[in-house]
Amino acid sequence: MFKKKRFIAVEEKIAGITGKNNIYSDDIELMAYSYDAGISKAIPEAVISFDNINQIAPVIKILYQARIPFLPRLAGTNLSGGTIPLKSGVILNLSRLNKIYQIDTTNNIAVVEPGAVNINLQKELEKFGYFYAPDPSSQKVCTIGGNIGENAGGPQCLKYGVTSNNIAKLQIITPEGDEITLSENDIGPDLMSLFIGSEGTLGIAIKAWLKIIPKPKIIKTCTAAFLTIEDSINAATKIIEAGIMPRALEAMDKTCVDASKNIIKSPYPEESEAMLIIELDCDYENKLEEEIQQVKHICDNCFSNFFRIANTETESEALWAIRKGAYPAMARLAPNVLVEDGVVPRPKLPEALKKIKTVINEYNLKASILFHAGDGNIHPNIIFDERDIKKVKIVKKAGYEILKICIDLGGSISGEHGIGIEKRVAMNWLYPTATLELFQKIKKSFDPENLSNPDKIVPVSLDSRKTISSKKYSPDNKILTNLLNEVKSKYREGVESIIIGSNSNLNKNIKSKSNILKLDELSEIIDLDRENFTVKAEAGIKISRLKELLKASKLYPALPDYKGTLGGLIAANHFKGIKDILLGIDIMTSNGEIHSFGGKTLKNVAGYDVVKLFIGSMGAYGIILNATIKLDSKNRLKDIKTKEPNTVEKNPFFFDFKPGKYQKRLKNVFDPKNLFNSWLYGDNQNESEIGKENIFSFKEYALDKLHKQNELFKLDGQNKNK
Ligand SMILES: Cc1cc2nc3c(=O)[nH]c(=O)nc-3n(C[C@H](O)[C@H](O)[C@H](O)COP(=O)(O)OP(=O)(O)OC[C@H]3O[C@@H](n4cnc5c(N)ncnc54)[C@H](O)[C@@H]3O)c2cc1C
Repeated sequence: MFKKKRFIAVEEKIAGITGKNNIYSDDIELMAYSYDAGISKAIPEAVISFDNINQIAPVIKILYQARIPFLPRLAGTNLSGGTIPLKSGVILNLSRLNKIYQIDTTNNIAVVEPGAVNINLQKELEKFGYFYAPDPSSQKVCTIGGNIGENAGGPQCLKYGVTSNNIAKLQIITPEGDEITLSENDIGPDLMSLFIGSEGTLGIAIKAWLKIIPKPKIIKTCTAAFLTIEDSINAATKIIEAGIMPRALEAMDKTCVDASKNIIKSPYPEESEAMLIIELDCDYENKLEEEIQQVKHICDNCFSNFFRIANTETESEALWAIRKGAYPAMARLAPNVLVEDGVVPRPKLPEALKKIKTVINEYNLKASILFHAGDGNIHPNIIFDERDIKKVKIVKKAGYEILKICIDLGGSISGEHGIGIEKRVAMNWLYPTATLELFQKIKKSFDPENLSNPDKIVPVSLDSRKTISSKKYSPDNKILTNLLNEVKSKYREGVESIIIGSNSNLNKNIKSKSNILKLDELSEIIDLDRENFTVKAEAGIKISRLKELLKASKLYPALPDYKGTLGGLIAANHFKGIKDILLGIDIMTSNGEIHSFGGKTLKNVAGYDVVKLFIGSMGAYGIILNATIKLDSKNRLKDIKTKEPNTVEKNPFFFDFKPGKYQKRLKNVFDPKNLFNSWLYGDNQNESEIGKENIFSFKEYALDKLHKQNELFKLDGQNKNK
């Protein structure tokens, strides 16, 4: 009742912006917004719809001033309770804001409102011969805003990346009502990537500039069946090892196919236990035919008992209908479905699936298992009836055990569905308390009053009694231990440091060398996982050396020829394509805390995307100690069409950096005393230890270096064109 009064106090003001008809507060209307596709429920105080995007900022300002919580909601298909109004408050229903403003085939960009339904956009793009890569299985109803909120993936993401790899620019309303634009071309830390996947907790995207891709000339769908799940995963792994990059590599078990049988005719032999759908695309018929034959050969060698190539689009759609219809098919068997979303490094899939099946059997549950075989993302679909409270408890318990299995195997608790409410507790098992506190501070830097989708993602009570030892990169070598001690001692004394990679001419210009934290001694490969196609290397390793070492193992990172270090390339955002291959980083903050983000899994949406935030952070948020990057069995850099090397004009170096309000607040989260590369954020550069003269020479040096770099890229480009 009190809560309703809270809204009544601002209702008229809001109605002045949106019109009375756009505000819903009847009990029955509110009930309709009290649940989403997950299993949690809570009733909002009011629901507000909008006629145009310009109404959102003024409404948020009113809610912010009245301290009324709010959350953006679209189709509500997130499977983690992301749109449940936990603290009551107001649901902002954006679904009528569904305009597709522009499809620009000259610059390969589509400009849309958040309520644009994914499939409707795809249909419009089809008319121009284009597509937008993220294609969640829920694409018939889910929206671009929801995809941004969750950093959604989909079958095509194996080849073309998830949402955060496919957005060029976003217009955002922050929880305080500020309108800001974030772009991949911004100088400085990648705030846009931090926002993507933030589940409405850092604000609301009101307009998006999406990267669109010309449709490949030929797309072919094949399917194979196997007598065991292990054989199907083995085939998937061998396809990737062979250097084939399918546009989709999906798997499902027999229970999925059986559940669909009443709706869709199954082509698979009865005794099959696992099925793969492999979709390939190419501009050249011969090459595609060759790859299909290779895929068939691999499946044969992995004991497939069935292989079929779809010859027409209708045949292809029929194959996809079983995969994409698996969730609705399970939903027909019982009132509720819990869909888990754990992810493991691909080689761990057989072990993960075996353990997950044991859990399902032990708890006597009925579940089908779908998995994105290419990227190790597993979706057990457990059916139950929520009216049976005992069963609900068992299902939740089983769900948590499944997530723990994924963490134990070096994976994560969510590949694409987000954390919302339903996986919050599991964040305690994935991250140490200090890292969760860092996430809380990130949230606070955008939303000081905890109003925008409050209490999601980060557990409300941080559980220091971890049941699983959360991952942490600990200093196990002398160089790192020395660095840690030095950073801690400088923190105590309040001494600033200049973070540099290697061979920097800066050295000679700095008055006091004790200010420099040079990282070139951290130059080892920590973990080369050939099966998983990932390498974890210390940040001070030179890119040229890294490439050389990997080449000897016939593994290739999609990195340009570059003279600097891995950490330098990330921190200075010297190569845009880094965003598409960077999977994890360990960082040291100025107080000597070490935090791990991301890891060896190809997808991971558990928590804020600090991995990408550090791209372009220029050493000012923390020291990147090491990075995990994705590898390939082929050197494909020349094939990456949209990822041009940087040019000076397109990506100026950090001397042009003028931190904005949120970059400054985030600096305060990671380095409150402004000790790392302090001149970038200092109010008065003259006060900085580095001194004005040195800033100038540093800038000149950087400019010179970047021009040289540019020349180098140009040469590289010319070679490619030959
Ligand atoms: C059958 C089924 C299959 C699925 N398959 C996939 C799949 O293949 N891949 C995948 O990634 N997901 C999948 N999902 C999950 C879900 O569809 C995605 O997470 C989708 O992106 C959610 O979109 P939505 O429009 O339903 O958003 P909602 O559920 O309404 O919102 C999702 C989150 O984003 C926030 N949000 C909404 N709008 C905005 C905005 N404008 N700005 C900022 N935040 C916002 C919300 O507050 C919420 O936290 C599936 C779900 C189902 C039920």
